[in-house]
Amino acid sequence: MATSITRRRFVQQATAATALAGLPLVRAGAQVRFSSYPFKLGVSSGDPAPDGFVIWTRLAPEPFEPEQLGTTAYEVDWEVAEDAGFQRIASAGRSLALAHLAHSIHVEVTGLQPGRDYHYRFRLGRYESPPGRALTLPAAGETPALRFALGSCAHYEHGFFAAYRYMAADRPDLILGLGDYIYEDGYGNRRVRLFHRREAITLADYRNRYAEYQVDPDLQAAHAACPWLVTWDDHEVDNDYAALTSEHELCGGPSSREAFVERRAAAYQAWYEHMPVRQSRLRAAGGVTVYGAFDWGSAARLYLLDTRQYRSAQACAREPTPATCDTEAGRKLLFVGAGGGRLVGLTDPACRPQLEDPSRTMLGAAQEDWLDTALTGERCRWNLLAYGTPFAPIYEGTPEAPLVFTDGWSAYPVARQRLLDTLVRHRTTNPVMMTGDLHAFFVSEVRDQRGRTLTSELVTSSIANSNTNKSGVLHLNPHIRYHEWEHSGYTLCEVEGGRMRADMVGVDDIRDPRTARQVLASFEFEDGNPIPRRIDA
Ligand code: CA
Repeated sequence: MATSITRRRFVQQATAATALAGLPLVRAGAQVRFSSYPFKLGVSSGDPAPDGFVIWTRLAPEPFEPEQLGTTAYEVDWEVAEDAGFQRIASAGRSLALAHLAHSIHVEVTGLQPGRDYHYRFRLGRYESPPGRALTLPAAGETPALRFALGSCAHYEHGFFAAYRYMAADRPDLILGLGDYIYEDGYGNRRVRLFHRREAITLADYRNRYAEYQVDPDLQAAHAACPWLVTWDDHEVDNDYAALTSEHELCGGPSSREAFVERRAAAYQAWYEHMPVRQSRLRAAGGVTVYGAFDWGSAARLYLLDTRQYRSAQACAREPTPATCDTEAGRKLLFVGAGGGRLVGLTDPACRPQLEDPSRTMLGAAQEDWLDTALTGERCRWNLLAYGTPFAPIYEGTPEAPLVFTDGWSAYPVARQRLLDTLVRHRTTNPVMMTGDLHAFFVSEVRDQRGRTLTSELVTSSIANSNTNKSGVLHLNPHIRYHEWEHSGYTLCEVEGGRMRADMVGVDDIRDPRTARQVLASFEFEDGNPIPRRIDA
């Protein structure tokens, strides 16, 4: 098998390079002994293709003392089987866990059959990882049903991750992470558990944060259940950041731009180290390519968009005051409220020219070009766009003077319209838009500037977070067809032929790890109709 030869050669070369670099190396099969079980962060799979997927783990016998492993490289064995008992091995090999990537392992498994389940695990000496289930994408032309779950906004301090456990129990084909997988910081006073450390700034901080999340058994269950497709939002780095502009950029301050460049690169590296994604996503100069498309045969194409890394800064930022800008306590910069999102008047003469500046972008030119090409490719019946921040507006204020939040797509009206124009130009069939971010469930019609409904947007609530109640402004937003703000949870979707169904699943109490769940509402999308129909009531 050419692929395993390539893999073997890669490991041999990497092993040789490690030896040349003078780094200590523990070979597979050696009698290695750690202070504790090294697979405490579990396993995961992602970036599926018709012939394979990525399988991931990270050696972390002491998850919060990673320096304990030093610079030693470890050879880790992995195997992929057709059966849960690992009797029929489909592929196996050896991969290196290297210190400069926090001893994470991203194996790009190839040579598998399309459209079927596999099971995988890792081994190092006498230690064996828990098993995970992965699957390959169906081949082009095939149209099997697709079940997938949507999750976003998991604040570890605000709640337990029962929603992830229930998601895993549903055995979906794929889980889509829509952003705010971690939170860089704590806030609020209703906490059920506490972060070990303060706000994440350095690479060590972000690694620590991911480790805190990934030792959680409910999150591990969701990762082991099926491949994840992952995009991100702001909290993987910093609240409301935009490209290289931090929430605090306008404060200036000593090297704030330079400090944020370094901070973002650290956060992105930690994201790569802890996500089941391909190495080709790593970019020079501290970038990571998050956007991409995945075809479920010819039934559905899933587009993951990155609405953070390339966007223009939020319009109409408030002027910082000296009081908010010159305090530095330890490493934590107390620059409050200078940049980031806020409510502004759509018709405010001071703000409007900025909002409507045609040079402002949400996706960036390269991603827009990529999306344009992806939308012209082989046709899939359903075209599902997933991203980190809401597309349908939520107007506040009054009908005469509507306000919008500057962090969402509605405050990037030219870029927003450009995306809708692209869908229309390509006659994209059955587009459905999907996000999280808002800590509440929404189903909204997505209308163009002329008021035509072109598609709809599903917003899934938080996995665990304080809720957002927008019921007081629904009269200003007749395009919002459903809003439920009292529950955290997830959304379970099923695409089958000309139908797509979405069940909004709420958990009763995020403060109770054993909490119950319930389906709050169900919607059905029909081929050719951009407006979904509620089917449970
Ligand atoms: Ca967010």
